[in-house]
Amino acid sequence: MSDVRFACSECGFLPDIDPKSVPDACPHCGDELLDLENGSDRHFLADLFKQRAMTRGLKALGIGFIIGLIALIPIGMAVPELLQAADLIMGAVAMVTMAPVDRFLRRKQPPAVFELEEAMTREAINLRNRMWTGAPVLVAALIVLIFAVVPFELMLDSMALVPKRVQDGQGLGSLFAYGLAHGDWLHVLLNAVGILAFGIAVDLRLGRMLTLFVVGATVVGAGVGEVFLSTAPETPIVGISAAVYGLMGASLVLMPRMKRAIFLAGMPVTVPQWVLLPLLVVIYTGLGWLAQVNVAHIAHLVGFGVGIALALGLRLVPEPAAFVVYKDKLEETMAELARM
Ligand SMILES: [Zn+2]
Repeated sequence: MSDVRFACSECGFLPDIDPKSVPDACPHCGDELLDLENGSDRHFLADLFKQRAMTRGLKALGIGFIIGLIALIPIGMAVPELLQAADLIMGAVAMVTMAPVDRFLRRKQPPAVFELEEAMTREAINLRNRMWTGAPVLVAALIVLIFAVVPFELMLDSMALVPKRVQDGQGLGSLFAYGLAHGDWLHVLLNAVGILAFGIAVDLRLGRMLTLFVVGATVVGAGVGEVFLSTAPETPIVGISAAVYGLMGASLVLMPRMKRAIFLAGMPVTVPQWVLLPLLVVIYTGLGWLAQVNVAHIAHLVGFGVGIALALGLRLVPEPAAFVVYKDKLEETMAELARM
């Protein structure tokens, strides 16, 4: 926190003002001069920065949506079937790119204004730093890293889960390791986005260690489910998508009324999680079955169930302060979106 006492909403901190002879207005732009030791001036600034942050956030969301639209071109060329979920993909990309785009826009302000905003919105900045150092970011980075460095043959040999092999008592380690291996870059990318989209709220609610526990337990639980229920026990299974479903299940139980923004024909619509998440599971599973895509539905559904079961117990964990801040901010953003 700066020890400068006077500020202007357009020029930022004003270190050149002598408290013994305070001018009537900002000497640089003639705007109102604000005294940071005065409660109502501080309140005025906090409100103003909140409004600016909201406008910038919506702009960042719009830009993220355009990035998502552009991302559809390579995705559509690689796997045309995915274009059926164009809305969801654009929404997910917008959610993930929103924070860095917002950061970029924030940095484009004059330095003195940027510093004033940082000082006035410390709580929000702490939250942002907490989010980007949470368990979901670690897991997403880990699956990207493993896919980048481990040769695919090795992953298929030593990490993939072959239910038949485990039924015969071999490769027990693959019950966990299969979650860290993936089939191709698109698979890695979709799962990384899924982990971030559904994991960040769970991570803030439960903390990093319990979130990692939910991720690990849903992967192992879904693996065990495949060993007992698989209809194709000799087909190798890879991918952490069971944990994406597990985090959806945990999120559903921990914060059923929390609203999420989805995009219908490019317009944001807010929907509570208790409506959206079961619907997503039904749509994904149903579409996969209809299209006969090679997807481990049993693992997904078991992962979703394990996430729900774990969260029923973990609901007793007290809400950390960061989560309360996150929830308030999200509610404000959703109310703003609903008014659009
Ligand atoms: Zn000024």
